[in-house]
Amino acid sequence: PVRASREMDRPPVKVSFEFFPPKSPEMEKTLWSSIARLAPLSPDFVSVTYGAGGSTRERTHATVERIAKETDLAPAAHLTCVAATRDEIDAVVRAYGEAGVKHIVALRGDPVTGVGTAYAPHPGGYAYASDLVAGIKRLGDFEVSVSAYPEKHPESASIDADIDVLKAKVDAGATRAITQFFFENDVYFRYLDKVRARGIDIPIVPGILPVTNFKQASSFATRTGASVPAWLLRRFEGLDDDVETRKLIAAAVAAEQVTDLVDRGVTDIHFYTLNRADLVYAICHLLGLRPKAEGTLADAPKAVAI
Ligand code: FAD
Repeated sequence: PVRASREMDRPPVKVSFEFFPPKSPEMEKTLWSSIARLAPLSPDFVSVTYGAGGSTRERTHATVERIAKETDLAPAAHLTCVAATRDEIDAVVRAYGEAGVKHIVALRGDPVTGVGTAYAPHPGGYAYASDLVAGIKRLGDFEVSVSAYPEKHPESASIDADIDVLKAKVDAGATRAITQFFFENDVYFRYLDKVRARGIDIPIVPGILPVTNFKQASSFATRTGASVPAWLLRRFEGLDDDVETRKLIAAAVAAEQVTDLVDRGVTDIHFYTLNRADLVYAICHLLGLRPKAEGTLADAPKAVAI
């Protein structure tokens, strides 16, 4: 088959995994068992989100620091401008530098009052992600990634205005953009053409959300401005109470999306794992990734205590 031969011919796909900081000891256990399962796939980096309004500042820091200390993975810490002064944010950045964390995903963030309410910069804070990128670059030699929106950010007036915002972040020093999730690959490729035409040449890494819970994914999509195609709705139709079939459909949908991306030239993929490993692990396997030490965790990350 054509696809199998392509897989053998092309260089391995680079992947990265996004996690969120756990809220409870039980969630912490789930996170660390997911990290232990995915780490042997040698991701390019793993990132840890920063809760809305800085609500997870300590937990994000603790999770990132533990990844840095206890595994061989390269951690990236998400950081937002919301509800903090420049001094406060700079202190967080310096603490990451001191902990050996050299990659930051710099974001504006959403208002503490929730997505959909008007954003107002904190007086004395960084106003937008581009300002935060510049601030981080002033503090040291950090690798800085930023967001990108194939269907534009909900607050941007147009896709062109949105790409201007991306350009400002690149001019401030960002060297990678990770996209909001999307379900139609043509949307991503059309966006990529526009970004390249604007003279932006950093990697625009597709962010993939494997959908197991369709209702949850639709509600994320509504909040973030990502469209949910009718065919996707149809695929999950009638399966609300059928978890097992939903898992199989989810695997098929995500597999179709990532193999098409890779067949069309994508070399890096970022997974929104939601702290779950199984589906992401299967998709990575399909992309040709194999654990460093087949079947064991022994040689992969340093011991990950669960
Ligand atoms: P920006 O790039 O700053 O742009 C957002 C909007 O601000 C633009 O649409 C534009 O309307 C306006 N704007 C930007 N610059 C200017 C300017 N100079 N003048 C006037 N208006 C301007 N949120 C979290 O809280 N924590 C996370 O960990 C997190 N991780 C994310 C990871 C990824 C990969 C993505 C795609 C999003 C993530 N988000 C996270 C969500 C993000 O914080 C929100 O989407 C937020 O609304 C916008 O942040 P941004 O960095 O994309 O904003």
